[in-house]
Amino acid sequence: MGFRRARTDTGARRPTPRPEPRGRARRVLTRLAKAYPDWGPTLEFGSPFELLVATILAAQARDERVNQVTRRLFRKYRAPDDYLKVAAEELERDVHETGFYRQKARTIRACSEQLLREFGGEVPGDMQSLVRLHGVGRKTASIVLGNAFEVPAIAVDRHVARVAGRLGFSRRAEPDGIEEDLRALYPPKDWVKATWCLVLHGRRVCQPTPRCFECPVSALCPYPKKTKAPGARATPRPTRRAASARPAR
Ligand code: SF4
Repeated sequence: MGFRRARTDTGARRPTPRPEPRGRARRVLTRLAKAYPDWGPTLEFGSPFELLVATILAAQARDERVNQVTRRLFRKYRAPDDYLKVAAEELERDVHETGFYRQKARTIRACSEQLLREFGGEVPGDMQSLVRLHGVGRKTASIVLGNAFEVPAIAVDRHVARVAGRLGFSRRAEPDGIEEDLRALYPPKDWVKATWCLVLHGRRVCQPTPRCFECPVSALCPYPKKTKAPGARATPRPTRRAASARPAR
């Protein structure tokens, strides 16, 4: 990490939310950052290009598995032209363990070819250029920008989308809309931190079946179907006698 000084990629005009949601969003982030002090990229990389390749491989795969593969891969393939020197089948074998290996190998080779042809073999450090690359969408571009270039960016994956919805930070379903809402809630300096805190919270606690009983932001969350700890006894409903009882004089 740490290739260039931070600069802002503000993109389209951001809507201005009311002060209350913004204050709650910041309190949520403070608590999540405290709960997950290990927030930050979970993919291993040593350059923007390695992070781009690792992020392509991480689609539908666990980061731990991707890291196992890239530890070997990055010793063999150091630059975009290395991926084009081997036969497609060889690269497919080298990334096989990450799943969807044919498609991923195709994407890496096409992306490498485009980097050489249009960008002198270097990964560009701006959103507009990144999303022009073969197989690179806003999520991948934001991960590369935020973590390899330190350009403020919010990446919306399924965890961020789920958590942002439950916390009432966004009512939208499509990632671009959720990203826009989160950018409006947080200052740019917090965009990368917010991304990772929401990702880790979605992986560890606010899972598809949420673990609200151990959630560090439960008191700040409006989600109406909060879960109780397994085995926890439901709060007893008052009996008719108890409900109608009058305090003794
Ligand atoms: S209280 Fe439950 S739904 Fe709300 S953020 Fe925490 S785990 Fe998710």
